[in-house]
Amino acid sequence: MKTDEEKLERIYRRTDGRCHICRKQLCFGNYGTLGKRGSWEIEHSRPRSRGGTDHLNNLYVACISCNRSKGNGTTASARAANGYRKAPLSKEKKTSNAWTGGAVGVLAFLFVPPPLRLAAAVVGGVVGAIVGNSYEPD
Ligand SMILES: [Zn+2]
Repeated sequence: MKTDEEKLERIYRRTDGRCHICRKQLCFGNYGTLGKRGSWEIEHSRPRSRGGTDHLNNLYVACISCNRSKGNGTTASARAANGYRKAPLSKEKKTSNAWTGGAVGVLAFLFVPPPLRLAAAVVGGVVGAIVGNSYEPD
């Protein structure tokens, strides 16, 4: 598989540099360097042996131990072993979720009568952030 720097960066940024299985922070410069701190590999969410492709949406960052211990197993069971269901969010996604939460808070502020405004804005912001965070990549 051809892995140029730009593709590596895109895959790395998808999860904000975190292992998609155990969420450990990884070090971009230590790609493929076994034994280095934060070293990582590209992991096929659906293994090639099960028909997975080299398409970007099947590729994730994973620490080397996670990638190798997952082997031929499924992403769902590997994540579940670490107590997770979803991949970590990218930095962009986290930022946009914060904006979604903020926007919902502002709308609540505008459409709720004054005595309840502040509470509605806070509740709206929290609900917006939760709703925004539920749209995670798988
Ligand atoms: Zn890991």
